[in-house]
Amino acid sequence: MIQQRSWKRKVVVVGAGAVGATFCYALAQSGIADEITLIDQNSDLARGQVLDLSHGQPFFPTVDVHIGDKNDYRDAQLVVVTAGSKQRPGETRLDLLRRNASIIRSIASDIAGADSQGVLLVVSNPVDVLTRVAINTTGWPRSRVIGSGTVLDSARFRYLLGRHCRVDTHNVHGYILGEHGDSEFAAWSMTHIGGVHIDSYCPICGRCEDWTAARKQIEQDVIESAYHIIDYKGSTYFAVGLALVRIAAAVLRGQRSVLTVSTMLEGEFDLNGICLSVPCVISENGVEQIMAGHLRQEENEALFRSAAVLEKAISSLEEEG
Ligand code: NAD
Repeated sequence: MIQQRSWKRKVVVVGAGAVGATFCYALAQSGIADEITLIDQNSDLARGQVLDLSHGQPFFPTVDVHIGDKNDYRDAQLVVVTAGSKQRPGETRLDLLRRNASIIRSIASDIAGADSQGVLLVVSNPVDVLTRVAINTTGWPRSRVIGSGTVLDSARFRYLLGRHCRVDTHNVHGYILGEHGDSEFAAWSMTHIGGVHIDSYCPICGRCEDWTAARKQIEQDVIESAYHIIDYKGSTYFAVGLALVRIAAAVLRGQRSVLTVSTMLEGEFDLNGICLSVPCVISENGVEQIMAGHLRQEENEALFRSAAVLEKAISSLEEEG
C-alpha cells in the first residue's frame, strides 16, 4: 500500500541574491521540495524572485513558492542561509568576516527562537567559520548545523579530473577536504575512476607523462576556480546552486549520501572545535556519521594546515568580543 505523507518537504532560503535565487530555481526543477520559502532583507528582491520563479510553474513539478518571514522557520525541514555581504571597497577580509558573522548570528538566533526541528545549512562565506558561528548561536547539536563546505569543490575536482582523463565525471569519485578556500586539498587516497584507485589507474591510463605534476595542477585549478569565475562575471552561482540541491536531496529524502559538508569536529581526525569538510553521511537528521577514515600522512598534514587557517580566523573574530 502506498503511504500518504502528511508533512511537507519545506525549504526556507534566506538570501534571495545570486546564490539563493539560483538554488531556488534548480530546487524547483528537481521536484524534491513541496514548498520553497524565500526571505531577504530586501523584500522587493525576494518578491521579484518569487514572482519570476512562480511564472515557470507550468514547466516544473508542482511546488509552492512564496516569500516568507521568521515564522516560516518553525516547520521547515531545511533552512539554507545564503545571506551575506560582499566586500566593500577598501574593506579587509576580517571586516567582511565580522559583518557576515553578525548577519549569521542574527538569522541563526531567529531560527533557534522559532523552535525549528529542521537542519540548518550555511552557505555564506567564509562558510566554515560561519557554520561554527551558527552552531554556537543556535546551541543545536552539531549534526543539525552544517556548511556547504567543499561539496562544490569536490564537484569541480571530479569535473576537472574526468576532463583530464577523458572519463565521464559520473565515473570519477573523489573529494576535496579541509577549508572551503585556499588551504583545501584533494584526498588522492580516496580517489577512484571507474572503481580503480587513482594510483593504479594512472599507470594503466598512460595519458600524461608526469601524473604527479598533472595531479598538482588539477588540485590547483580546483582552488583557483572561484577566482577565475569571479574575475569573469563577478560571482559564482550555477554550480553552487546545484551542489545545494544535492545536499537538500540528501536531507529531504533521508538519502544517507556521503558528501563533504563542513561539520564541527570533536576529536575526529584529532581536531576539536573546528568546522571543516570531511566526508559525512547526510540524512534528514543532518550529519549521521563522520567518515573518520584513514588519511595519508600528507593529507593529515594538509587537514591540520586547513584547521590552523580556520583557527586563526576564529580567534580574530573572537578577539572582537
Ligand atoms: P548576493 O549579494 O547576490 O546576495 C546576498 C543576499 O543576502 C542579498 O540579496 C542581501 O539582501 C541578503 N541579505 C544580507 N543580509 C541579510 C539578512 N540579514 N537577512 C536576509 N537577507 C540578507 O550574494 P550571492 O552571490 O548570492 O552570495 C551569497 C553568499 O554565498 C556569499 O557569502 C558568497 O560568498 C557565498 N557563496 C558560497 C559558496 C559556497 O560554496 N559555500 C559559493 C558561492 C557563493
